[in-house]
Amino acid sequence: MVTQGITAMPASVQTAEDLNSFRIAMRQFDSAAEKCGLDPGLREVLRRPRRALSLSLPVKMDDGSVQVFDGFRVQHSSVRGPCKGGIRYHPNVTFDEVKALAMWMTWKCAIVNIPFGGAKGGIVCDPHKLSKNELEHLTRRYAYEISPIIGPDKDIPAPDVYTDSQIMAWIMDTYSMTHGSSAPGVVTGKPTFLGGSFGRNEATARGCWFVIRSACEVMGISLDRATVAIQGFGNAGSIAAELLARQGAKIIAVSDSRGGIFNRAGLRVPELLRHKVKTGSVVDSPNSEPIDSQTILELQCDILIPAALENQITLENADRIKARIVAEAANGPTTPDADAVLHDRGIMVVPDILANAGGVTVSYFEWVQDLQELFWDEDDVNRRLERVMVKAFTDVHATAKKHDADMRTGAYILAIDRVATATRVRGIWP
Ligand code: NAD
Repeated sequence: MVTQGITAMPASVQTAEDLNSFRIAMRQFDSAAEKCGLDPGLREVLRRPRRALSLSLPVKMDDGSVQVFDGFRVQHSSVRGPCKGGIRYHPNVTFDEVKALAMWMTWKCAIVNIPFGGAKGGIVCDPHKLSKNELEHLTRRYAYEISPIIGPDKDIPAPDVYTDSQIMAWIMDTYSMTHGSSAPGVVTGKPTFLGGSFGRNEATARGCWFVIRSACEVMGISLDRATVAIQGFGNAGSIAAELLARQGAKIIAVSDSRGGIFNRAGLRVPELLRHKVKTGSVVDSPNSEPIDSQTILELQCDILIPAALENQITLENADRIKARIVAEAANGPTTPDADAVLHDRGIMVVPDILANAGGVTVSYFEWVQDLQELFWDEDDVNRRLERVMVKAFTDVHATAKKHDADMRTGAYILAIDRVATATRVRGIWP
């Protein structure tokens, strides 16, 4: 059992590797708070969500039956600005997972220094098993239930796993219809013709690519010759593959929920994308051999990008990871125990709260454009994103070095300092 970095955890949790996302988020926070000597009162404030809403969502299904779905919206912090965070539709999403994701959003927004706090939402459902009509009713009911606590200056949802621009359009419409005026600024990740931003769809992957480039410079890896393995081939993973391949990197393996594919000589990404559009999966793509999603994590490569779900790199497989850089496009793919193993083995983990912050950064740009009703072209968005991500990497790397810590701890210390300073100066009301 690895107990490194554990502080203030109940004894029961330390007996085995604990995969509960919220306890992991608190454990990461506690470890960094301890390292930077955070005041105990502020520590108590910052480690809990400000508000957590649990919902029952009845939906009349196409066959006339009624089904009730569980939904959540959690607001971790609004100290630095309105809460911000995506909505996840997944059969296994839990209240604790949403609490963790909301907390990670607070730190993420602070790292890229945008004026938002953190939030997250989720509905326990398998959207692939719902008709478009059922999905719309579920989404609108959820939007209606959370509408008292969301709004352009309160809390601004966005897409996450298995949600997209259509779902954001339904939320924006439901909120607008019940508030009596059109409110594009209530969600981000909308279609561009409804006030969405150019570059938002690619932003998470593009931001990840910018920080991978910086990490490669630090690690002495030449990106145009690097080998890359990617777990998850959705919005974040597939676009990261495209951008890295265009730069000359060799994508040797990718996977999705149905399985993985491998080619040591390099997969042809445009061909993969066409195959996925045609069949819904990367499995059985031409010029590839099958590989399972767990084996992908352990391949000999320069850069590993987990871009699917949480808890993929754990104590069980951390000592078999062979990549030199792990760039966490997904939220929470590495457990704290695994983190310690990777750090000891000299592997640089670019943590989720930095590596995937490009998404929320361009969401912020979208919100700014909506409020101004003045829109930027894609080059403008990408240039601004590059500036933000390169600076965030430099800040996190410098903080990690200063505290003789790994990049995740560096990222946490930077973020906690910014949020704690704002909390201290605002004061505890009343
Ligand atoms: P997505 O729904 O577009 O894609 C998810 C991908 O993961 C799909 O290809 C799916 O098949 C795959 N997947 C699911 N289970 C898998 C498994 N067991 N093994 C391998 N692949 C599996 O979602 P996304 O938006 O790309 O999000 C992926 C991750 O990135 C999530 O952790 C999300 O929170 C994070 N993220 C996304 C954004 C964004 O803007 N999209 C921003 C920040 C963080």
